[in-house]
Amino acid sequence: MMVYFVTGDEKEYYYVTGVPEPDWNHGTSFVDSSREEMRKAFEGYHPTVQALIDCTESVTKWPLLERNPLPLWHENRLVLLGDACHPMKPHMAQGAAMAIEDAAMLVRCLEEVGAEHYQQAFELYRTNRFERASRVQQVSHDNTWLREDEDPAWVFAYDPFEVPLKQPTSQGSPA
Ligand SMILES: Cc1cc2nc3c(=O)[nH]c(=O)nc-3n(C[C@H](O)[C@H](O)[C@H](O)COP(=O)(O)OP(=O)(O)OC[C@H]3O[C@@H](n4cnc5c(N)ncnc54)[C@H](O)[C@@H]3O)c2cc1C
Repeated sequence: MMVYFVTGDEKEYYYVTGVPEPDWNHGTSFVDSSREEMRKAFEGYHPTVQALIDCTESVTKWPLLERNPLPLWHENRLVLLGDACHPMKPHMAQGAAMAIEDAAMLVRCLEEVGAEHYQQAFELYRTNRFERASRVQQVSHDNTWLREDEDPAWVFAYDPFEVPLKQPTSQGSPA
């Protein structure tokens, strides 16, 4: 269970956890759950977990949905960023971070080649985001982030405005 305080006085919090479910046939992105369902799922767990469940006011249940890396990020005047082109599991807590990095890199690429050459800018953007976003998608999928002693700088020290720009190859960037 990952517990976050959501107010400065630490009186309100939010937590997330995962429970295996064979299917998701609800037709909606989330459904209401309950303390009773939580108690059943976490029967026998540590008293802190039981206490957390006991004082929970509302519980919702979400499926974890993801996709494989998407080869097409742009077409004509349309370009994708964030979850629209690389939805990922939450195990690195990097979905929003990747969306923000995408936006920064897209701005940089539009400035680099000029907005009138938007198709060139979109391809430059994809070339410079595909590998990183796909790697984060894969590590999130495998749920291996920080399981071993590793330097997290490749995630946290990346600066979309400072990283050297890679140019697309004549065959296009990697798919
Ligand atoms: C419970 C939870 C915890 C998370 N924790 C973290 C975290 O700790 N760190 C992190 O980096 N990421 C986290 N994420 C992931 C993060 O929220 C997403 O990766 C991020 O919000 C993606 O941003 P986005 O702009 O690509 O898409 P979204 O935030 O989904 O934005 C898309 C927007 O488009 C709107 N929209 C959809 N269709 C239409 C339409 N037809 N017309 C107009 N508008 C439309 C939607 O209403 C939505 O507002 C978490 C996600 C969840 C669910």
